[in-house]
Amino acid sequence: MTEPVDHPNPAADSNDRPALSVVAPCFNEEEVLSEFHRRMSTVCEQLTQSYEIVLVDDGSKDATWRLMNELAEHDPHLVLVKLSRNHGHQLALTAGLSVCRGGRVLIIDADLQDSPEHLPQMLEIMDRGADVVYGQRRHRAGESRFKLWTAAAFYRVLNRLSETPIPADTGDFRLISRPALDVLQAMPEQHRFIRGMVSWIGFRQEPFLFDRDARFAGETKYPFRKMFRLAMDALVSFSTWPLKLANILGLLAVLVGLLLLVWAVVAGLRSHAGAGRLAVLGVMALFSSVQLFVLGVLGAYLGRLYEQSKGRPLFIIETIRRA
Ligand code: UDP
Ligand code: MG
Repeated sequence: MTEPVDHPNPAADSNDRPALSVVAPCFNEEEVLSEFHRRMSTVCEQLTQSYEIVLVDDGSKDATWRLMNELAEHDPHLVLVKLSRNHGHQLALTAGLSVCRGGRVLIIDADLQDSPEHLPQMLEIMDRGADVVYGQRRHRAGESRFKLWTAAAFYRVLNRLSETPIPADTGDFRLISRPALDVLQAMPEQHRFIRGMVSWIGFRQEPFLFDRDARFAGETKYPFRKMFRLAMDALVSFSTWPLKLANILGLLAVLVGLLLLVWAVVAGLRSHAGAGRLAVLGVMALFSSVQLFVLGVLGAYLGRLYEQSKGRPLFIIETIRRA
């Protein structure tokens, strides 16, 4: 149960479990890394000596990896993971989670949008018996209107369609207990929507309300393209409703087709020249677009099924550096 299916867990047989792990994926984060390390370490030091901070370099093109190594020279609590290329946030996170050994694990972004200083409060909630403490955003500073609006709409649509309730306005900022994490890591899904998967596993999950800060420096590493892909992964992984859409659209198209047909016959009887041809064109355009759309929906599921069936590892770790 404790091992991810597709790749060995380098920490599987380790006995010296730290009390706490922090896992932060980093993609081109040279501008924030030192400050993140400083603030995160300060918080951890006040809590326990038994901790590790796992930094995952997700194929950065800038000085992120070099900076990580410089930090690790002076900090034995750092564990560095370098992926072979950019795998994307969700898989970088999965790689970090497979390497961390802590009894409790904090998932946090490196850009300081989720304050490390919230950790003590989250630990308190876990002390009261929660297995997962998920950060829920009350307010988000420094985000564009477009992002706020699309994020809000996305969570509402997803929750309508998903069979698993996924709390609105959450990111991946959360504290997870080891038993819950082991279950999560045993799920071999390629297209991961981790916040949804964590909801799916159950156990006792409690929210932690917080105000999300603006990025400390640099710009978002989630351009619209990546956001859209994540949203599609979420939808396809957590709902089969789009597949059922084919039925509904088909039915609607039949109705519209029938109406057009009736209209064409009536118009034909009243001898409006050309009305029949127009109706045929209309019906053809309608039906073929519905068919293409439904094919696209099928493709979204089929493509993911195909990728999953190849059984490739979720990520490739090039190097792990421990103190
Ligand atoms: N990230 C990553 N790989 C990627 C994109 C992002 O590891 O391909 C990391 C990034 O370095 C950051 C976290 O994921 O620590 C969240 O990304 P970002 O802050 O850019 O997203 P946003 O907060 O703007 O949604
Ligand atoms: Mg961010």
